[in-house]
Amino acid sequence: MSKYKLEYIWLDGYVPEPNLRGKTKIVSEEPTSHTDCPEWGFDGSSTQQAEGHDSDCILNPVRLYPDATRKNGYLVLCEVMKPDGNPHPSNFRAKVIDDETAWFGMEQEYFMMREGRPLGFPEFGYPGPQGKYYTGVGYEQVGDIARKVADEHLELCIEAGIEHEGINAEVAKGQWEFQVFSKGARQMGDDLWMARYLLMRNCEKYHINIEFHCKPLTGDWNGSGMHTNFSTKYLREVGGKEYFEKLMDAFDRNRDEHIAAYGPDNHMRLTGLHETQSIDKFSWGVADRGASIRVPHSFIKNDYKGYLEDRRPNSQADPYKILGRILKTIDEVPTS
Ligand code: ADP
Ligand code: MN
Ligand code: MN
Ligand code: MN
Repeated sequence: MSKYKLEYIWLDGYVPEPNLRGKTKIVSEEPTSHTDCPEWGFDGSSTQQAEGHDSDCILNPVRLYPDATRKNGYLVLCEVMKPDGNPHPSNFRAKVIDDETAWFGMEQEYFMMREGRPLGFPEFGYPGPQGKYYTGVGYEQVGDIARKVADEHLELCIEAGIEHEGINAEVAKGQWEFQVFSKGARQMGDDLWMARYLLMRNCEKYHINIEFHCKPLTGDWNGSGMHTNFSTKYLREVGGKEYFEKLMDAFDRNRDEHIAAYGPDNHMRLTGLHETQSIDKFSWGVADRGASIRVPHSFIKNDYKGYLEDRRPNSQADPYKILGRILKTIDEVPTS
């Protein structure tokens, strides 16, 4: 009789942003959906989610992904619940007021690190300055392992059913990006967290750590963002200049609330340099990579219909917080 290996994965209670955790459960019947996966528990006192004297937390399966690295393997994404059945305070997924007609594309940037420095950085000093690393080719630009790591990650995501959209080497040496597309904020957050998990797990065997902090290097080196592209049904099908301007007013009005949801230490990255707008300003611009929100040319050409790119979220941010905030602001703007 076959045995199935379910990796239960959840977010811990660390602040400002959680870490991924996982443990394996063996079952005898193959699950076809997350609803076939039983609830499980864990010791919350080891994950900053409970006190030792009352340590049980509940894992509530919410999405199932095939795990290409294991025979009969599945990845089971879970929400953390309190024993009384209510969402744990660390469970930001539960707080999202979703719009399943909203579409998202997130561009996750990150550094590949070994022994505390980005791949390609010498033990002392620096590699050549930024310029030819972005989308570069050749050992000088990308080294001997980074592309293999990014490629394997792409493959694992596709096999898990995640709409992975692409990879590219980024502006700083050792920095990469992948893009994921999803419909609905919960699905987007789930897929992005699972893509992070697959990347981190696959890098263990290469002695590579993934650095998600938004500004791991000082000096003339780009930080890491997580540009968030979004569209609602209304933006795609109706749009219009007047609605767009009201929407941008709402984003401006809620600037601080957005920044609060867009990841820690973002003041180190949103400086107005390195293709960013400064943290205390809000602006939008057509094809402008120095704006808070970049409006694609196609959006204007198409009578203000399509998607927009919020460039402020950073690489370490929790996608549930980012997307929940964006939907909240959109919801403030009347659509007729
Ligand atoms: P760039 O690096 O030029 O900002 P990318 O190609 O890395 O652009 O990312 C563009 C993103 O826009 C992709 O993640 C894609 O999924 C997303 N996107 C495209 N169309 C839509 C849409 N209608 N709604 C939401 N996101 C979209
Ligand atoms: Mn990109
Ligand atoms: Mn990028
Ligand atoms: Mn972008």
